[in-house]
Amino acid sequence: MSRKVLIVGQGLAGSLLAHELDLRGVDLLVIDPGRAETATRVAAGLLNPFTGPRFQSPEPPQAWFASAVRGWRRMEQRLSARLLQDMKVSRLIRDASELERLRQRRADPGNGTLLGEWLPPEASSPLNDPLGRTEIRAARVDLPLFLDRTRDWLHEHGRLVYEELDYADLAFTAHGAGWKHHELAAVVCCQGYQARTNPWFATLPWRVSHGESLVLRAADGWPGRAVSRGRNLVPLGGDQAWLGATYGRQTEPTTTATGRQVLLDSLGELLKAPPRVDVVEHRAGVRAGNRHGFYFCHRHPDESRLLLFGGLGSRGTLIAPACASTLAAHLADGRPLPACPGQLA
Ligand SMILES: Cc1cc2nc3c(=O)[nH]c(=O)nc-3n(C[C@H](O)[C@H](O)[C@H](O)COP(=O)(O)OP(=O)(O)OC[C@H]3O[C@@H](n4cnc5c(N)ncnc54)[C@H](O)[C@@H]3O)c2cc1C
Repeated sequence: MSRKVLIVGQGLAGSLLAHELDLRGVDLLVIDPGRAETATRVAAGLLNPFTGPRFQSPEPPQAWFASAVRGWRRMEQRLSARLLQDMKVSRLIRDASELERLRQRRADPGNGTLLGEWLPPEASSPLNDPLGRTEIRAARVDLPLFLDRTRDWLHEHGRLVYEELDYADLAFTAHGAGWKHHELAAVVCCQGYQARTNPWFATLPWRVSHGESLVLRAADGWPGRAVSRGRNLVPLGGDQAWLGATYGRQTEPTTTATGRQVLLDSLGELLKAPPRVDVVEHRAGVRAGNRHGFYFCHRHPDESRLLLFGGLGSRGTLIAPACASTLAAHLADGRPLPACPGQLA
């Protein structure tokens, strides 16, 4: 492919796609204004295959988890950075229906090595687990480091343009596609929740939700693992931990006093004796998901040189590595995209 691929957005999706295209020798350009309030910047980076009250996961969870870990290891090698850290999640059980659901999920032999058995409450444990807990094999991706290193790499190679794409500057004609003076093979929109306002993709069944998170400091430190019970408490190293997230209806990434208080109150649901904390950061972002499926990764039906990669919901670290690799192979070598969203190619 001699012409460039233009990637709109340097969040999790756009960054992974840029690396995967470069690995296949495809020339590329990324455009992003470098906003602070993106989903990737506000996330904990928890790579947890089983989430929510029903321990939901993409199927098969082991394959998705293994593929994500491989993808993140590939990024570590490219960027010479430690991005991935093994991290167990202590998932506290909230009620009898969650316990029943855990039993059902455990009965599937495919889930056994990632999803632990039910463990009874322990008097000496700092976790607030009156109904017991389970341990989930998970990991944490250092997303700020990944974004910053990727931005530096793109910048060094003259492949990053610091501006917001004006859709009117894109040209699709019978002779080719273009943006300003660049001839393009394809344009891939990796805009997170802002793809909702992209006129080419606005009518898709988006499901957006607002989320706030805090970075907290506690002099006495934190449990050495992530703790989850509706909210997640994720150790960041040293005296800091990430606490989140809220779910709301706003469609702009603004922080609220209510969100901050809800999160601070939730510490008592996770730990028996919550420590005294300082709030180091309070951030908000907007998750973008697909109401009918799993994610969006396809060509526009009327303009095949325009593609969408997004709708990753709250599972970007798990889903995006495999999708970025599949999409890059499609753009570089014409390998087919999965017909059905949610399929692991
Ligand atoms: C509070 C919260 C906590 C989360 N926690 C986790 C977690 O622990 N684990 C996990 O796996 N997932 C988590 N998620 C979900 C995860 O953050 C997302 O799935 C993922 O980051 C989405 O990445 P993205 O690249 O699609 O979007 P974004 O990160 O939003 O990036 C989109 C990029 O596109 C750019 N852009 C938009 N429009 C334009 C334009 N016109 N021109 C140029 N650039 C443009 C933006 O500036 C931005 O940089 C969380 C989300 C939230 C909100």
